[in-house]
Parts: sequence; C-alpha cells; structure tokens
Amino acid sequence: MNIHEYQAKAVLKEFGVPVSRGVAIFKPEEAEAAAKELGGPLWVVKSQIHAGGRGKGKFKEAAAGEKGGVRLAKSIDEVKDFAQQMLGNTLVTIQTGEAGKQVNRLYIEDGSDIEKEFYLSALVDRETSRISFVVSTEGGMDIEAVAHDTPEKIKSFSIDPATGVMPHHGRTVAEALGLTGDLAKQAGDIVSKLYAAFVAKDMEMLEINPLIVTTDGQLRALDAKISFDSNALYRHKDIVALRDTTEEDEKEIAASKYDLAYIALDGTIGCMVNGAGLAMATLDIIKLYGESPANFLDVGGGATEEKVTGAFKIITADPNVKGILVNIFGGIMKCDVIASGVVAAVKAVGLQVPLVVRLEGTNVEEGKRIISSSGLNVLPADDLDDAAQKIVAAIRKG
Ligand code: ADP
Ligand code: MG
Repeated sequence: MNIHEYQAKAVLKEFGVPVSRGVAIFKPEEAEAAAKELGGPLWVVKSQIHAGGRGKGKFKEAAAGEKGGVRLAKSIDEVKDFAQQMLGNTLVTIQTGEAGKQVNRLYIEDGSDIEKEFYLSALVDRETSRISFVVSTEGGMDIEAVAHDTPEKIKSFSIDPATGVMPHHGRTVAEALGLTGDLAKQAGDIVSKLYAAFVAKDMEMLEINPLIVTTDGQLRALDAKISFDSNALYRHKDIVALRDTTEEDEKEIAASKYDLAYIALDGTIGCMVNGAGLAMATLDIIKLYGESPANFLDVGGGATEEKVTGAFKIITADPNVKGILVNIFGGIMKCDVIASGVVAAVKAVGLQVPLVVRLEGTNVEEGKRIISSSGLNVLPADDLDDAAQKIVAAIRKG
C-alpha cells in the first residue's frame, strides 16, 4: 500500500526525521490560510499523487499551465494561483503513464534554500534478507538513470537485524555523500531514525529523493515516498487510515473485496488462473505467442463458486479485455467448482469476447461436462500451450 508524500512525512516526523513544515489542502479556498499559517517568504506547492517525477511532470489542461506539479511560490497570491491551477487537473509524469493522474490534494510546504540534493532509500533486500540502504550524491533526479550510467555513484549496504544501525553505517553514508563534521553526525542520526521507522511500520520501501543540505547546514528529507507491506497492514490501523483508494485501480479494489490476488496489466487477454506460479506461467506463454495479458489473477486454492464469479466479473468489466483464458489445474481446487463458477458468471454478466477454458486435475471430467452442456460458446483446450494459441488466434480473428 502506498501513501502520499505529506502523509509519509508525518509518519517520518513521528520518528524524529527532519522534514519541512507544511499543510495539506483539498480545495483552492484553503490555500490562503495554509500559506498564512506557514508564513513564507518562500512556499512550495506540491501536487499529491501516488507517483514520482512530479516536479518535471506536465499538466494536461491549459488552465494549469504546462509547468510542473511542484512549484515554488514567492507570495501568498502565487500560492493561491498555483492551487487554483493544479487542483482538479491531470498531471502526467514519467511514472503515471500517458493517462496521468488527477490532482485532488496539495501540500503547501515551507520553501527550503537548497545547497545540495542527495538520494537515500531503504528497502527489503531479498538477496540478503535484510533491510538495505541505497545512497547517492546524485539526488533529485532519476535514480534508475544514475544506476545505469554511473553505478559507481551509488553506494549500498545492508543492516544486520540483530544489531540494527551501528555508528559505522552513519560513517558510510557520510563518506558516500562527502559530509563531515556536524552534517556527518546528522547523516548517522537520520539513517538510524529511518531504519526505526521502517521496521516499526513494516515498510517495504522508503525513498527520500531528495535528501537535502540546506544553506544553513541542515540535513532534511524534502520528498518522501513510502510503500507498506500489505501483509502486515492488519497491525497498523493508523497506516490503513491513510489509504487513498482514488489512487488505486478500481479493479484491484474490487478484487480485494473478494480476497483475490489480482494485478491489473495493460494487455488484452484476461486471465483466470489458480496458483501464483501457474498464473505467472500463463502470462509468460501469452507473451510467447505474441499477445499481452490484461491482468494477473490467482483465484487461490480454495476458491468458491462465488469467488470465481466475482473474478470473472472483474475481468469482463475491463474494456481492454478482448479475450479470456481460464487455466485451472485442479488440486485442492476442483475443476467442477471452477466450471460452475464460470457458467454462473457468464450467465450473470454475459460474454462478449472469446473464452478459452483449460481444465486439468481433480474432477476434470465433471468440469468439462458442465461447460459443454451449458450451451455457452467456450473453446476447450487440452494443455497450456494449446490454450494460449487458441486465445491468441481467437482475439486476432476479432
Ligand atoms: P518529485 O520527485 O515528484 O519530482 P519532489 O518532492 O522531489 O517531487 O520535488 C521536486 C524538486 O522540487 C526537488 O528535487 C526540489 O529541488 C524541489 N523542492 C521540493 N520541495 C521543496 C521545498 N520544500 N523547498 C524547496 N524546493 C523544493
Ligand atoms: Mg522526489
């Protein structure tokens, strides 16, 4: 689960991480009071969307100007103007895709006098099974490009969970960023606070880009992006309360109601599969035969007919779906349950696109009988290869 920058900064502030003062607003009318509360003389008006690259992003609407989603304001009137222009408009950044994202919240923040911009992030590193930090002098810009072009400018290290952050980690960061004296001390302090926040809140990823040095010698988190481990959200009610479902895919929200593992993708073949491994293989084989999947969907081992119907509804509601592939290996999950679910779903929501069903395993004969006697226009397939070829051929025939 992701949260907005201003929420992330509030979480980090609880752990003592230095951040700027700011006020979140939802309506242009709130801009003046927010700007007055902060006092100036420099403000930054920051679009709050769940995507990075806002500074270099562009608004679609002319009313918002073509200027970026993060703007420096030198007067209260400017803050008001920017708020008026940005709220309700669609910001397109390198991370939003062409469709962009509508800006419904702004964060009005104290403007900082920046001397340097660094990059600092922490993530769960599966290779070392530890939390790793990534740090670079090349902050404020696209870290992927830095990693690609000048990997020597990126330093990474992991934290032993038994000891936590040690003084030498702070020295590593200070050295990587070329900081000495009091700033080196601040760097160590920030690393240990970020680590404490990361562990306490079950984060998956925490990115500070940029981490700045101000002209008066303070280290500060000027941007913050956090994603949390969804499996641990049950023990963080305060974090769950920060969820902004308008930033999430509607189909994914619907899927979470049915407790389905569903991820929206941008292809044209809707997939319903049981088991994450088989689902991944199904996506791969669709690609192999030259088309792209519209989703990842694992209906799980013990899916009921109701769950299968729910899954089918979500797939058919996606306007990009030109064909559907059901691929079930019945083990705990029985083929006849899936077949009944598919038939019930098709009867309930109709079927405008070709449907290929491949069933194998427990109760497969009964499953096939249910489908063939349903009178539905279903293309049966014998194995995964056959199924993928059939659905690809079917959607190409249009
Ligand atoms: P994004 O990464 O989405 O572009 P950032 O929050 O990193 O958004 O802002 C982009 C840039 O805007 C920063 O690299 C920094 O140069 C500038 N900026 C952001 N917040 C402030 C602030 N409070 N004061 C001064 N400059 C800022
Ligand atoms: Mg940033």
